[in-house]
Amino acid sequence: MAPIIKTEAIVLRTRNLRDSSKIAVTFSEQYGKLDSVARGVRRTKSRFGASLEPLTHCYLVIYHRRDRTLHTISEATIIHSFQHLRSWLPGISYGSAVIESLDRSTGSEDPNRHLFDLAVKTLEEMDASESEAALATIFWAYLLRLLGLVGYAPRLRKCVVCGSTAEPSGFDIPRGGILCPRCAPLSDYSLAMNDTLRTFVLRLQSAPLAELRLKPARSTALSEVSLLIDRFFSFHLGGPAILNALEFHRRTIGTAPPNCPGAT
Ligand SMILES: [Zn+2]
Repeated sequence: MAPIIKTEAIVLRTRNLRDSSKIAVTFSEQYGKLDSVARGVRRTKSRFGASLEPLTHCYLVIYHRRDRTLHTISEATIIHSFQHLRSWLPGISYGSAVIESLDRSTGSEDPNRHLFDLAVKTLEEMDASESEAALATIFWAYLLRLLGLVGYAPRLRKCVVCGSTAEPSGFDIPRGGILCPRCAPLSDYSLAMNDTLRTFVLRLQSAPLAELRLKPARSTALSEVSLLIDRFFSFHLGGPAILNALEFHRRTIGTAPPNCPGAT
């Protein structure tokens, strides 16, 4: 008989299976990414089904077969459904980008508890956000920290080519760190980086997410840093740029001011 495991998880994506079942891909606290089937879940509008919507933080009871890649969910309970985040389009865009990047940066059943905690905290802070600038600031801080947790922390103290501690003038994407003014022109693939941008990246790496929500960055700083982190993410983890997904939503919704019907 398969052992029963109990774990918190974030639902990344789902797809329908036959008439009434659903396969849910979740990132769990203790076991990492798991593919599991929820049988009969689409037959009624049950709370079981609602707990398995993407972008839900839930508690799962799973029959886990070590020799299989598809397990069975027997119970699912919502811990946090991030209703405010889902209630406006920028929230949906950035929330979706959080789970997309989590999905793309993790392998099957490879646990990373720090990454799980980071993703939950990020979604909680985004759920409490009232502006698109706050969402964006939290998102790019999250992506930068995610990169660090999967082994790609950018090196920001010394030139990655010569070790000079001079103020940076570039960021080398393949080497993953800053370039001094002498080495920057020789790099094959770099973006401009001055000391102001480096200071901002360091703030995104270390400031509490709640502080970033309350004091979000300006749009010029965000556009510079988003390009840098996005290129870095795509180069090292593969796949299309995260910005593409965000850009799609931005084009769809224009620059409408945030309407926060879920805010209280
Ligand atoms: Zn150098």
